[in-house]
Amino acid sequence: MYRRPIFAANWKMNKGPSDTAAFVKSFLSKLTGRQTSDIVIAASFISLPTLSESLSEARGVEMAAQNCSQYDDGAYTGEISVKMLREILVRHVIVGHSERRSLFGETNAVINAKLKKAREAGLKLIFCIGETLEERNAGKLESILRSQITEGLENITVSDMEDTVVAYEPVWAIGTGVTATAQQAQDAHAFVRSVITELYGPEVAGKLRIQYGGSVKPANAAELMACPDIDGALIGGASLDAQSFVDIIHNGSLT
Ligand code: PEP
Repeated sequence: MYRRPIFAANWKMNKGPSDTAAFVKSFLSKLTGRQTSDIVIAASFISLPTLSESLSEARGVEMAAQNCSQYDDGAYTGEISVKMLREILVRHVIVGHSERRSLFGETNAVINAKLKKAREAGLKLIFCIGETLEERNAGKLESILRSQITEGLENITVSDMEDTVVAYEPVWAIGTGVTATAQQAQDAHAFVRSVITELYGPEVAGKLRIQYGGSVKPANAAELMACPDIDGALIGGASLDAQSFVDIIHNGSLT
C-alpha cells in the first residue's frame, strides 16, 4: 500500500523567532521541485507564530508543537493548552517524545491523556515510542513497544488513527550519532504495524505512517526510507540546518 512519506523536524529547545525566520527563508529557497512527501516543522512554542508567518506562502509545510498540556485550562503554570495551539493554527503535535518521558516523567498514562486532549481539539498526532538500550539488550524491545502502544493509544479511535503518525525512535539512537541499522529499524516498524493490526485491524495498520527517528542524516535517509514499513522520519539534530533537512527530504523521497 502506498503511504505518502512524512518528514518532521523536531527542533527541541533550539531556534527562537529570529533564527526561525532565517531558517524558513533558507529552507524554502533550497526546497526545489514538486514535493512527494509531507513536511512538518516542530518549533518551540514561542517560535510558532513566527514559523506560521514565515510559512504563510509555503504550501505543504505545516507546523507542529513539541508538546501540549493534558488539561483544558486553569492553574497549570507554564503549560500550553491544545486550544491555544489551535488558535495559532498549529496542525500537529508531538506527544511522548523520549525526552518528555525520561526528563519530565511522562508516563504512558500521561501521554494517553495528552493524545486524547489533542484529538479533541482536532490536532494531528505524532506519537513517539521507543526502547532504551538496556531494554533492547534485555530482550524487552517488543514488550516495551507493545505497552507504549496499547497504553498510549487507549481510547484513541479508528478515526483518530487516520490523523496519527507513529514515530519509532530507539532512545539509544537519539542525538547519539548512532543510527539503527535499516534492518533493526524495519523489524521494529513491522512489529509496531503488527500491534496496530491487532488493535485496529489491517486497514488502519496498512494506512498508518510510521516514522523512524534517531540520528537520521542526509547520508542514511535513502537506505532507511527504502524499508517497506518506514514512511518518513522525525529528525532532531540534522533538521537544525536548512540544507541538511532539505537533503534528507530529497534523499528520502527518491526511494
Ligand atoms: C529526535 O529528537 O526526535 C531525534 C530523532 O533526534 P536526532 O535526529 O538528533 O537523533
